[in-house]
Amino acid sequence: MRLTVIGTGYVGTVHAACMADIGHEVLGIDIDAERIASLSAGRAPIHEAGLSELLARTVASGRLRFSTSLAAGALFATTHFVCVGTPQRSDSDAADLRFVDAVIDGLAPHLRHGSLVVGKSTVPVGTAERLARRLAGAATGAEVAWNPEFLREGSAVQDTMHPERLVVGVTSERADAVLREVYEPMLRAGVPYVSTDPATAELVKVAANSFLATKISFINAMSEVCEAAGADATVLARAIGADSRIGPLFLEPGLGFGGSCFPKDIRAFAARAEELGAGAAVVFLHEVDRINTRQRLRTVETSRRLLGGSVMARRIGVLGAAFKPGSDDVRDSPALAVAMALQEQGAFVRVHDPEALDNARAACPELAYALDIPKACEDADLVLHLTSWPEYRRIDPVALAAVVREPLLLDARTGLDEPSWRAAGWTVHALGRPMRRTPELASGGAS
Ligand code: NAD
Repeated sequence: MRLTVIGTGYVGTVHAACMADIGHEVLGIDIDAERIASLSAGRAPIHEAGLSELLARTVASGRLRFSTSLAAGALFATTHFVCVGTPQRSDSDAADLRFVDAVIDGLAPHLRHGSLVVGKSTVPVGTAERLARRLAGAATGAEVAWNPEFLREGSAVQDTMHPERLVVGVTSERADAVLREVYEPMLRAGVPYVSTDPATAELVKVAANSFLATKISFINAMSEVCEAAGADATVLARAIGADSRIGPLFLEPGLGFGGSCFPKDIRAFAARAEELGAGAAVVFLHEVDRINTRQRLRTVETSRRLLGGSVMARRIGVLGAAFKPGSDDVRDSPALAVAMALQEQGAFVRVHDPEALDNARAACPELAYALDIPKACEDADLVLHLTSWPEYRRIDPVALAAVVREPLLLDARTGLDEPSWRAAGWTVHALGRPMRRTPELASGGAS
């Protein structure tokens, strides 16, 4: 089939390359000419496992090409996937739909008869219906469907090639047939395919993200109580996660969620529910958001207490800048938020990340960065573990102890092996684990 993929960011680049790999002829379109030039040369603009190889292969095959022209896209194919961003509006919690609307308006005058526009962006319920009305005036016989994207950054290629389910919201059998043909290899492999109306499809996405965000904030709320009670949240998480009705995934106490999806998606969902008169049903999402934000403050506050009440002029080595491991995405990164807050309080912060340094530098030029872990931690009074990259679990705590000024670690992702760090002479604190009091904590401002 011939397809276009409009918006070649994290979702669009991966979707375009995967669709080409399963045999379709794909034209990726973006307004960012620099990005299109790099993609046309087969270079991935983002870090994702397996993406560079996949992109190089599909571009070389001739099945994947790129353009900046929506008009060219409208002529190239009759099936168009829309993967542009839907960030939070600057003046409210609602989603900013101006990029989606611009794509519809840009495509409309050029669409071939019977075209299908398939949204993959995460949008407020009712968007597909609104866009269908917007298209109806300009393009004859064009249809809008919604096919929400569930890929996770860090395993985006794997998730696209082997999704846990496909959800399509359609208004005709024809649209359903087109999407079944697009995803034929996945359907043949037995991937569950849920075909429903657009409103349900749109809601599936935000409901799934709300559930996951709630699970993370739930365990972090438990972690706060554990810390106050001198109990261990990681043991608690393991014990409740063993119940098959609860499950162990997304139940790791720590610094909480960030990135370009969960925070803005739960806010936009609450705002949309409010517009629909159903705000009371999801009022808990505001608390989920507050608990999440509190973990960043809690990490900053714990750092301050570990350093005897002030971080002023103290050196802090930060491990991690990406919002999650496996990605170079720093949008709403909890790690960078903590690093920035400590720097603003007068600390000298130096940040390491295996993949996200360029993006972090662009987002927070005020911070210092290091290309390797020992450099980030050199002469540090405190080391913070803020993104759970596997590299950090492989650190030799004996070697790292030799470069710091004080072997003091705050594990805000509760992912490091505490006993081996302690054995190497480190004083280790982890969010949600009983505080082991240092002399400073016992005498100064500890509570
Ligand atoms: P992104 O910001 O990485 O990419 C968006 C791209 O769209 C950019 O390259 C931008 O230049 C391009 N664009 C903007 N306006 C355009 C236009 N008029 N024509 C063509 N291109 C245009 O965004 P993303 O992270 O890929 O997310 C895209 C959507 O998918 C969002 O709605 C997001 O919520 C959703 N989503 C994201 C993820 C994720 O993990 N990133 C997962 C599932 C769903």
